[in-house]
Amino acid sequence: MKVKENVDVLARTQQVIETALTTLGYDSAYYELMKEPLRLLTVRIPVKMDDGKVKVFTGYRAQHNDAVGPTKGGVRFHPDVTQEEVKALSMWMSIKCGITNLPYGGGKGGIQCDPRTMSFGELERLSRGYVRAISQLVGPTKDIPAPDVFTNSQIMAWMMDEYSRIREFDSPGFITGKPLVLGGSIGRESSTALGVSIVMNEAAKVLGIPIQKARIIIQGFGNAGSYLAKFLHDAGATIVGISDAAGALYDPNGLDIEHLLERRDSFGCVTNLFPNRITNQELLVQDCDILIPAAIENQITEDNAHLIKAKLLVEAANGPTTHVATQILTERGIMIVPDVLASAGGVVVSYFEWVQNNQGYYWTEEEVNERLTKILVDAFHNVYRTSQEKKADMRLSAYMVGLKRVAEAVRWRGWV
Ligand code: GLU
Repeated sequence: MKVKENVDVLARTQQVIETALTTLGYDSAYYELMKEPLRLLTVRIPVKMDDGKVKVFTGYRAQHNDAVGPTKGGVRFHPDVTQEEVKALSMWMSIKCGITNLPYGGGKGGIQCDPRTMSFGELERLSRGYVRAISQLVGPTKDIPAPDVFTNSQIMAWMMDEYSRIREFDSPGFITGKPLVLGGSIGRESSTALGVSIVMNEAAKVLGIPIQKARIIIQGFGNAGSYLAKFLHDAGATIVGISDAAGALYDPNGLDIEHLLERRDSFGCVTNLFPNRITNQELLVQDCDILIPAAIENQITEDNAHLIKAKLLVEAANGPTTHVATQILTERGIMIVPDVLASAGGVVVSYFEWVQNNQGYYWTEEEVNERLTKILVDAFHNVYRTSQEKKADMRLSAYMVGLKRVAEAVRWRGWV
């Protein structure tokens, strides 16, 4: 019987990190240092629930590597959060920051909870409790959190307020993804989606796919997926498929994106309103030119990789494609723009937000978008050039570009 692939995100990240560092010629001490975060904090957060009972939540904050600068990365609120996942996500942040030349290392946080079943008050108490629990480890020049799955600008505002109270001075640079009035950056909310569309355009040019004629499937209708559907629809592309946690919609003639965006609820759900929906797994293998997984991990695996019809796969989600699926797709000549590159727009504009907070001087939308575009276009071509030169797939190439910066900082500091 065929042995099933190990889809554990941490194991597969460590595997690519090891190959990348070895291919670049770094000795094994570099891998020993980078295969785990430098620091990992587990916290227990007691929260008084609306019914008067206390519920204790588990949270994490991982700091992968701070040789380049303070660590940076989001905090997710999700029932499936695990220590392993948070560790892997912190490593991906190191690579994203490396590829885009940001003065940061990677970090990540998460709380095991289901925000869809919690009230506003419960979420506020949980967010504040998390900041109190991790306050020793974080700060504007240490580790800077941000939004991630099921966290938003309101949660960032509560967290910033709690941190400022603890420190007894206003600390906007402690966290990014804040509302504009509290020092957020113009363009931060849509930056992940804008970033995906920028790198997708570059990849489509390389492959000779005109965006106006492209038929695109987007899996996931959360922050990244919904903005992306809007941007690509406005750019003239035909969105033939979308999905959310309840199911998927597919129409080879194109979906009415404006209508779907209007009817979407605050957790990104809309397909539940349509009886003719299909499953997420069915959606991924429908006919299209470009497939954009923008939901969760492990969606494209050894089981469906050979059925994918797209010519280009752009990973807007973190970790949607497994290791074996990456090999199958690469062998089939399907280009993958890996998550660490495709979804880096969010952290780039987070960096802009932090710079603006430090300066106390705020930029225009044009300035934000122009700088974001330049960074991501350069990053795409750097990774693509590396893949051609080293005859490596795009994921391994992205890891090489990102980790080289971390490894050089480690070497200069004399850690290895
Ligand atoms: N959570 C986002 C990511 O995974 C953004 C992180 C940030 O802005 O620091 O890239």
